[in-house]
Parts: sequence; C-alpha cells; structure tokens
Amino acid sequence: MIILTVDKAKDWMKEIQKRMFDHKDQLTELDQAIGDGDHGINMARGFHEVVAKVNHTSYDSAADVLKSAAMTLMAKVGGASGPLYGTAFLKMSLAMQGKEVDQDVFKQAINDAVEGLQARGKADFGEKTMYDVWKQVANFLQEEDVQDWHGILEVCQATIEDTREMAATKGRASYLKERSKGHVDPGSMSSFYIFEALAEVLDLEE
Ligand code: ADP
Ligand code: MG
Repeated sequence: MIILTVDKAKDWMKEIQKRMFDHKDQLTELDQAIGDGDHGINMARGFHEVVAKVNHTSYDSAADVLKSAAMTLMAKVGGASGPLYGTAFLKMSLAMQGKEVDQDVFKQAINDAVEGLQARGKADFGEKTMYDVWKQVANFLQEEDVQDWHGILEVCQATIEDTREMAATKGRASYLKERSKGHVDPGSMSSFYIFEALAEVLDLEE
C-alpha cells in the first residue's frame, strides 16, 4: 500500500507549516531559555518558504517534494536546525527515489534521515537535541505496522519530556552545561510538530 503520494507529501509540508506558525512563540520561548531565541522564527520562516516553493512547483514523486523541502530549508534557515532538517528530508528523499512509498520504504527513509542527522550534527542519543526524538521515532516504526503508528505521538511526547532533565552537550544549549537542565529542547518540540503533521496526513487514528 502506498502511504506517501505527491499530494500527501505536499500536505505534510503544509501541516508542518501550520504548526510551526501556531507554535512560533512557544518554540521561541523554549530557545530563549537555553539558546538564542530564534527557533520559532527559523521554523516558521523556513516552512513558510517550503510551502511557497512546493505550492508553485509540480512534482513527479513524493521524493521530489521532500528534496525541494530539504533544499529550501538548507538555503533559507540560518540556524543549526536548517541544515539538520534539510539533511533529514534529503535523506528521506534519496531513500524514496524511484520507489512507491509503502511502509517499508517509509521506514527505511526515516532510518536514513536519522543516520543523516547523526552524521551532520554528531549528536548521540541523550544529548538533548532533536536527534533524540527522531531516533525514538525510528525505533518505534521499526517494530510497528502502519495501522499501529498512531502511538508515534506518545513516543515523541515522552522523549521531549526526557530532554528536560538532560544537560545539553551539543548545539548552543551545551554552552549552559548543567544550567540547560529544567527546560525541554526546542528542536525536540519542533520535531514533534513534524511527526504530528505526518500523523495527520497519514490519517493515523488515535
Ligand atoms: P541555533 O541553535 O543555531 O540557534 P535553532 O535554534 O534553529 O538553531 O535550533 C536549535 C535546535 O537544533 C536545538 O534545540 C537542537 O534540537 C538542534 N541542534 C543543535 N545542534 C545540534 C546537533 N549538533 N545535533 C542535533 N541537533 C542539534
Ligand atoms: Mg536558536
């Protein structure tokens, strides 16, 4: 069964954009606590540009939609998160290239995105970054069939909450060392919105 078509890939970007816009202040506040306060702006602007791009382009495949998103995020988002999310979507695109995106292809795509994030950011699990959420999502998807993927949001939420008591060792928050404890990681929160948007587009039942 094909789970990601061109239209669904475009809808995914639109659903992400809505959430980044609606939660811009929240992402900004989280980044003000342990970073430089630009994460809300980076995400809202970045996905605004992505949607503007995909709305005005016709695509032959879901892979091409994600490639366009990746290139846009890398070009338009100044912070660390731009190249990181750009890499994640580019790796997904490469995994989907020339294929119909069924659940096995999608699982592989998420795995490749996670490897790409790790290679790009040099973060390991438990360093209080977006990588924590992506890694847990990949682990979860490996074990479940698509009809059981609604649990993905609980997995994300638990992981976000886990970042709260961690001391950051990668990215700007690492400058604060132990003082980064007590705040959830902004990138783990924006990653939640990416997967919440995916659940919406794939129509995963609660
Ligand atoms: P910047 O840190 O450059 O201001 P953003 O505020 O947009 O960029 O993004 C910050 C988020 O990026 C962090 O909350 C964290 O999740 C993620 N991040 C930063 N550095 C890394 C890294 N080396 N590996 C993985 N994720 C990272
Ligand atoms: Mg920042």
